[in-house]
Amino acid sequence: MKQYDYIIVGSGLYGATFAHFAKNNGYKCLVIEKREHLGGNVYCENLEGINVHKYGAHIFHTNNKDVWDFVNSIVEFNRYTNCPVANYEGKLYNLPFNMNTFYQMWGVVSPEEAIKKIEEQRADALARLNGREPLNLEEQALLLVGEDIYRKLVKGYTEKQWGRSCTELPSFIIRRLPVRLVFDNNYFNDSYQGIPVGGYNKLIDGLLDGIECKTSVDFFNSEYRDWKKYAEKLVYTGPIDEYFNYQYGKLQWRTVKFENEVLDIPNFQGNAVVNYTEREIPYTRIIEHKHFESFGQDVYANSKTIISKEYPVEYTEGMEPYYPINDQRNDEIVNKYRKLADNETNVIFGGRLAEYKYYDMAPIIEKVMNYF
Ligand SMILES: Cc1cc2nc3c(=O)[nH]c(=O)nc-3n(C[C@H](O)[C@H](O)[C@H](O)COP(=O)(O)OP(=O)(O)OC[C@H]3O[C@@H](n4cnc5c(N)ncnc54)[C@H](O)[C@@H]3O)c2cc1C
Repeated sequence: MKQYDYIIVGSGLYGATFAHFAKNNGYKCLVIEKREHLGGNVYCENLEGINVHKYGAHIFHTNNKDVWDFVNSIVEFNRYTNCPVANYEGKLYNLPFNMNTFYQMWGVVSPEEAIKKIEEQRADALARLNGREPLNLEEQALLLVGEDIYRKLVKGYTEKQWGRSCTELPSFIIRRLPVRLVFDNNYFNDSYQGIPVGGYNKLIDGLLDGIECKTSVDFFNSEYRDWKKYAEKLVYTGPIDEYFNYQYGKLQWRTVKFENEVLDIPNFQGNAVVNYTEREIPYTRIIEHKHFESFGQDVYANSKTIISKEYPVEYTEGMEPYYPINDQRNDEIVNKYRKLADNETNVIFGGRLAEYKYYDMAPIIEKVMNYF
């Protein structure tokens, strides 16, 4: 008999949830993690008494009651509701586009007035297209929401995000730009959302409770590369191209650079997320982390605050791989790796890096729950 049933490479949400369910089903697991800490990209660093989302702001949201009940069985979730605000030339607009936004943009106070205004705004774009399909993102956005919203809230932000002009970006990137004719700033339509009370590390610690974990161990440079000596099965949550030694080439990613600042004031922007939608401001968003976990006047209990400016940057070697680029080149390469993965015996490839697929947190948990 081998020492473990499963060796799990990576302690992100996929690896940690897998280990949790495997343990509950009587299997012995070892989790190895190349970073110095557990938790993958949901890991938070506590600075000045504030949980800083080190790898980008994470908001848990789901419509799946089983997933919600499960995560709440591990750690209680707070009442955080994501209501981002956009700053354009110093004026603030609520997001997603709703009656508050339309009031701020045009002073309209009823849904009827708002519909009329949006139709007026779209009329030019419709006339210009004269029946043909939009050729690029700019044409598509103008058709969906019209001039003012596009120029003030979509254009600059999107161009910063993609590093290209909206006239050079394909129209399919923005299939829909939902507008809400109600006063509702809640970004998500899901029934459940929140942040773990005490931060995401509590969720990871709860999932990994009672499971042997080793940090600062890179699978490829460790004795566990020869995993069959130690375990019946391998769960691999690292990059799929690395597993196969990049034999078909490297997969490409988009990434974001975070610039953190500790400020000697208790409240910088009064909200967790503020988008900067002007092209001239180099960052896309400022995250103020304390607002994920403290509400109302409680934010003043800590005299300091921590903000992160987010800069979309071109991915180069050594950076964090954040978003897969699902274009033709990368699709072709990943399909070849997936074929190799299908032929591996007793190896489970799971999670965003091994599947080369963007997943929110809840679907990751759902996938593991469905496995068991
Ligand atoms: C910027 C950003 C913001 C996001 N915001 C949200 C949000 O608001 N809401 C939401 O629901 N989702 C969000 N997500 C998605 C969320 O981060 C993922 O769903 C989740 O992290 C996926 O978990 P994972 O285990 O697949 O991957 P990861 O968290 O990346 O975990 C993989 C782990 O494997 C380790 N590893 C890799 N290779 C090796 C190796 N060779 N040896 C040992 N260990 C290895 C890595 O170090 C890492 O810890 C966001 C993602 C990004 C990029």
